[in-house]
Amino acid sequence: MKESKFAHITKVHPCFNEKMHDKVGRIHVPIAPKCNIQCNFCTRDINKCEVRPGVASRVMTVDDAIEHVRKVTGEMPISVVGVAGPGDALFNDETFEFFKRAGEEFPELIKCMSTNGLLLPDKADLIAELGINSVTVTVNAVDPEIGKEIYSGVFYDGKMYKGEEAFKILSKNQLEGIEKLAKKDVVIKVNAVLIPGLNDEHIIDIAKEVKKRGASLMNVIPLIPLNKFKDYEKPGCAQISQVRDAVEEIIPVFRACTQCRADAYGVPGKEDKHLDMTPASHY
Ligand code: SF4
Ligand code: SF4
Ligand code: SF4
Repeated sequence: MKESKFAHITKVHPCFNEKMHDKVGRIHVPIAPKCNIQCNFCTRDINKCEVRPGVASRVMTVDDAIEHVRKVTGEMPISVVGVAGPGDALFNDETFEFFKRAGEEFPELIKCMSTNGLLLPDKADLIAELGINSVTVTVNAVDPEIGKEIYSGVFYDGKMYKGEEAFKILSKNQLEGIEKLAKKDVVIKVNAVLIPGLNDEHIIDIAKEVKKRGASLMNVIPLIPLNKFKDYEKPGCAQISQVRDAVEEIIPVFRACTQCRADAYGVPGKEDKHLDMTPASHY
C-alpha cells in the first residue's frame, strides 16, 4: 500500500520527482500566515503568534484561494496544490478548511503541505482524514545541543518555551508526528536546512532518525542567512553536494529544489509565477 502510494505521488509531484520538477505545475495558496515557532534564520517575528501587518495584509482568504486554484488550473497544467505558509500550515485553521473544500472541488489534485512539525501529532488524524497526500516536515536537528541554537522560541499548548526545552518539545513532536503520519500512508519528505558550522555534520544523524520514523525522501537546502543567522556563511555547492551524497547512503535525496515562495504557482523554474505578496521562506 505504502509503496503504491509513494509511486503514485512520485510520478506526478514536482517536489518528489526530479524528472518531473520542470514538467508539471504546483500551486501554493498563501493562506497560513501565523507561525508557532521562531527559527533563528527566519525574518518573521512571532510576536505573540500574531502576524506583522505587512505580511498579513497580503494573505489570501480561503474563498480567494479556492477561486485562485480554479483560475490557475484552467490556465495551466497543475498536479499539486500546496499550503507552504507563509507561516506554519498546521497552525492556521484555514489550511484545513481549504483542504476540505479543495478535496471536494479538485479531487484530482495531489494535496500537499509543508510544516515545522510542532503540531503533527495533534493533527495527523485530520491530515489523513482530509486526504492530504504528502507532507514536508523541516527538521534541522535531532540533537538538543544543536537544536537549541537554531530555534529561539516554541509556542505550544498556550505557552511560550525557550532554549533547550523549546527544542525538545519541537523535536519530540516532529519525530512522533512523522511516525504517526507514515503509519497513515501519508508520503513524507524531510527538509533540512544546511547551516555551515552548526548542523553540517549532523544532517546525517537527522537522515538516520527520520528514515527510522518513516520518511521517504530528504531535501537538504542551503541556509539563506537572515535574522540572527545573517552573519553565517551560505553553504557552497560543493558542501551541499557532499552532504547530499552522504545522506543518499541512508535515504533517497531530492536535489532539484530551489526553495520557492509560499505563493508560487506554475511549473517550477519554467512558467513560474507568484502573487504580489511578501513571503516567508519555504523552509
Ligand atoms: Fe516559522 Fe517557517 Fe519562519 Fe521557521 S522558517 S519561523 S517555521 S515561518
Ligand atoms: Fe512542493 Fe512543498 Fe509546495 Fe508541497 S508544500 S507542493 S512539497 S513546495
Ligand atoms: Fe518544491 Fe523546491 Fe521545487 Fe519549490 S523549488 S516546487 S519547494 S521542490
